[in-house]
Amino acid sequence: MPDGARACFMTVDVEDWFHSYNYGSLVSKDRWPDYESRVEHNTSRVLDILARRSIRGTFFILGWVGERYPHLVRRIAGAGHEVASHGYWHEPVYSLTPDQFRDDVRRSKMVLEDITGRPVRGYRAPCFSITNWALPILRDLGFAYDSSFFPTTAHDRYGRLEGISPGTGPFEVIDGLHEICISCLPMGRFALPWGGGGYFRLVPYGLWRVGVERILRTGIPYVFYIHPWDMDPGQPHVAGMRTLDAMRQRVNLTRCAGRLDALAGALSWRPIGEAIAEPATAPAACRPMAARAQATPMSGRA
Ligand SMILES: [Zn+2]
Repeated sequence: MPDGARACFMTVDVEDWFHSYNYGSLVSKDRWPDYESRVEHNTSRVLDILARRSIRGTFFILGWVGERYPHLVRRIAGAGHEVASHGYWHEPVYSLTPDQFRDDVRRSKMVLEDITGRPVRGYRAPCFSITNWALPILRDLGFAYDSSFFPTTAHDRYGRLEGISPGTGPFEVIDGLHEICISCLPMGRFALPWGGGGYFRLVPYGLWRVGVERILRTGIPYVFYIHPWDMDPGQPHVAGMRTLDAMRQRVNLTRCAGRLDALAGALSWRPIGEAIAEPATAPAACRPMAARAQATPMSGRA
């Protein structure tokens, strides 16, 4: 039975299989048009699962994908989902200069807004690579929130926001901009990534649900994410991948759609933007906190 009293955010990072960082330098930007595109079909499967469950979520769409498949963006918006930005070129924030970051995000925002005719208010950094210096740029571009920070030290590619501890719920990270952290499971001094993607495919579903319940008992909204390619066992192989990266990309691809369907049906979901737009009615954890993350210069990789 869905539990309507608890807030969960369903989010989808709309990108193609070859955009994944697991391919590293094996797949370069200039070759993207040469690869078999599977994003339409895979996103359609996600949309169908959510439609059957009458669930609306937030779709962080890569600008490069939106520009090529505007009808897909229109279908997502038409189904009642929130359209948000995943940047244009899928570059880690810490690999860009502030001016490059501003240009990339602005371009993706314009592409998506031109298609839907609605303002884009949410942003998710590629590979969760957010850094402090990017936050004022997002606010100045008209974003209301960022949902990019994974408060864990368990990954070599993620970005860092200073002053945010594991288990932190949504809050106003700088004046005028909220941060909605990806869910982690506190475990002693550590925090395990418990938001979705490859972790969701790797961990047995029953154990995953136990972890989600533990997170919800802390009063923090659960923030889940999935890529359309997480459900695609037919995605091509690329020769030369490191063993760890190949496992991250391909473990349990065949099981993911069923798990998504089960998780979707077990909880009560909403788009992030609706919680930010309704601060008076949002859960307590969604209201701004007094403590603000300290603005620091670019801090580099985690
Ligand atoms: Zn991505």
